[in-house]
Amino acid sequence: MTTTVIRNAAWVIAWDETLGHQIYHRGVDLAFEGDRVLFLGRDFRGPADRVIDGSARLVLPGLIDIHSHPEHEPLYRGIREEHGLPSMHMTGLYERSQALSATDDEARAASAEFAYCEVLLSGVTSLVDISPPWPGWVELFAKSGLRGFLAPGYNSARWYLEDDHELRYAWDEERGRAGFAAALGIIDAALAHRCGRLSGVVSPMQIDTCTEALLKDSRAAARDRGLPFTVHVAQSVSEVREMVRRHGQTPVQWAQGLGLLGPGTILGHALYLDHHSWIRGWTKSDLRILGDSGTAVAHCPTPFARYGHIMENFGDYLRAGVVMGLGTDCAPHNLVEEIRKAAVLARIAARDITTVSTADLFEAATLGGARALLRDDLGRLAPGTKADIVLVDLDCPQMQPARDPLRSFVYHAADRAVREVFVDGRQVVADGRVLSLDQNAAGGRLRAAQQRMEDAAPGRDYRGRNAAEITPLSLPVAE
Ligand SMILES: [Zn+2]
Repeated sequence: MTTTVIRNAAWVIAWDETLGHQIYHRGVDLAFEGDRVLFLGRDFRGPADRVIDGSARLVLPGLIDIHSHPEHEPLYRGIREEHGLPSMHMTGLYERSQALSATDDEARAASAEFAYCEVLLSGVTSLVDISPPWPGWVELFAKSGLRGFLAPGYNSARWYLEDDHELRYAWDEERGRAGFAAALGIIDAALAHRCGRLSGVVSPMQIDTCTEALLKDSRAAARDRGLPFTVHVAQSVSEVREMVRRHGQTPVQWAQGLGLLGPGTILGHALYLDHHSWIRGWTKSDLRILGDSGTAVAHCPTPFARYGHIMENFGDYLRAGVVMGLGTDCAPHNLVEEIRKAAVLARIAARDITTVSTADLFEAATLGGARALLRDDLGRLAPGTKADIVLVDLDCPQMQPARDPLRSFVYHAADRAVREVFVDGRQVVADGRVLSLDQNAAGGRLRAAQQRMEDAAPGRDYRGRNAAEITPLSLPVAE
């Protein structure tokens, strides 16, 4: 086993067991041996195979991204940023997923490789990847060097549209059951993978596209394996209305009745709770249900903010006791930008600067994500935790002056200052470049894959439109 020492680090954000939260250390050594942190303090005197000069570095625990869709989201660059339907409360999700989705496994592979690079370059070391399974997924995830939580998605129904306002469902429970069985097989393969960094999350895709039985059996399978469970819940007004129509309950209330909530359950988004101003439900119990049950929420501000959607509000969720984590539901996969956006949007929603702090949001991106994933060895740096470590360059101009380096990082420099990333003690980013994957080559393959996706749109869209009609360019092109 090799030992690496980050010598004389200018700043380290580390876990303080006595205080029960993260604190700054200045001018300390951080040593890790194999996949574990060995030492944090002054003057490490043990043998070292490698010494890294930390005098111009902020050292962070690796960030944890608990919600992403690498298999297709990079394909939407230039396509989804302003794609939303006023007739569906501004979401473009249902129209887009029907007309524009990955056409083939090569497209999925290019998209995922590109996304994994973005993720690593923003300082993420643990990633929950919620994707329909595709061949080569497990091996690419292993190759990326990330700590991977594979969440193979499946459902009993698929959405479809015949017009621009009614969300319809094509049910096929046999397909859902087959997807569930396949998902468990992939999770077992991930857990058994020789790299030792892969795990799984049981992931029926959406609360409105799965039968009660499939959801209950999925939750039980996660519990039996000691794994987390995730499902999209309350992600659109259309979904909430559909669930109230079916059950006379909000999606959260229905999920509680089914026994789906509690520690280890991560709800994707949970934005449209019954207190939200776009729902104005009569019960006002959703937030309390989530907090009292110890349920986690994966908050992904960017895609929703682009639609004009906002969580109301992050600070209230924290105070209700909800386990808050962050994710990147779309490209760019930049968790630092999500931290910044989550902070600013919470304050706008609350009209109150004190509703959340930078420390609250950094905690969500590290400890909150770790709690959601039932892992106390991630999201923190202390002797014995996993050596998932990010080094931020204090000499990066956008970090200067680094009076408060976490604020410099979150509000100013973001991914531009990420220089080195270690996962499980192994270096995967050096000098701001991913060592394990080829982002440039993946970018070229991604462009070709996006073209194939656009070419297929007229055959998939409910009105037979081409991609430019569904989502025009931001400016007209000269004749
Ligand atoms: Zn999602």
